[in-house]
Amino acid sequence: MNRVIEAIHREYDSLLRNPLAGANRIRDIVLLLCLLLLCANAAFALPQSAAVPGGIAIVALGEHNNAPRVYYLGKRVMVLQDGGHWQAVVGIPLSAKPGRHTLRVQPQGAKDRSVTFTVGAKQYDEQHLQVPPRMVNPNPEDQRRIARDLKLSAEAYRTFRSGDRITTRFILPVEGRYSSPFGLRRFFNGEARNPHSGIDLAAPTGTPVRAPAPGRVLATGDFYYNGNTVFLDHGQGLVTMYCHMDSLAVKTGQTVETGQILGTVGATGRVTGPHLHWSVSLNDARVDPLLFLAPEIVAQLVQ
Ligand code: ZN
Repeated sequence: MNRVIEAIHREYDSLLRNPLAGANRIRDIVLLLCLLLLCANAAFALPQSAAVPGGIAIVALGEHNNAPRVYYLGKRVMVLQDGGHWQAVVGIPLSAKPGRHTLRVQPQGAKDRSVTFTVGAKQYDEQHLQVPPRMVNPNPEDQRRIARDLKLSAEAYRTFRSGDRITTRFILPVEGRYSSPFGLRRFFNGEARNPHSGIDLAAPTGTPVRAPAPGRVLATGDFYYNGNTVFLDHGQGLVTMYCHMDSLAVKTGQTVETGQILGTVGATGRVTGPHLHWSVSLNDARVDPLLFLAPEIVAQLVQ
């Protein structure tokens, strides 16, 4: 971006020195200004919007001096400033029904109001698997462990930490093969299970897993299904989860930067081979992690 600004300065200086250089220079300056705007936009890029179950709605909130508080399904929602306007960045749960949905907007020093947005339909693929009976019918001891895991995960996903420096454009946490998409409707031994709440990236055991954006380690643990797991809090209800890791390199409460190693890929928990399961959650709704990646990274991944 600095190179673009320097180029604009150079063009402007030479125009002042030689005003007869004319229209071409003005055209160049306009082009460079457009490029500058594009660069500025990329630096603060919002996630890709896809107002469907498991997607993200970006809802304009209009003019406010300060960020209004916004709630969806009783949960606090991320609010970011984009080009001088406040935008709600809303995670839509996979269980959401297509149709009109309502945000409760609380501007500072003004009355609450409702803002509606429309959720479209999306049909996710089905996957039928035969799995060992223990995975479908865990024993009482395992069931207690699963209940404890669920409580810990629910608490992590409900986290909302205020802050205005939010990175919503992620790097890929691991170099791996895109082996299972988000939203897959899974059937184990013919029984409907929860849909796939993240993406799987297959990679050899020991491959580094990196933080996709700056954050804080919310929790770590050894979970029955998910194995060695890390939760990261990126601020304003944006929480990510990394599962089945072989080793962990971070501790709860620690701050991490983009690219920092969280641990390594493994096959812990109930899995058939080494991979990273990666979930992304907004306002306690699991959404497709691909929406937080640059389009060129997505194109490479899904090709
Ligand atoms: Zn998975």
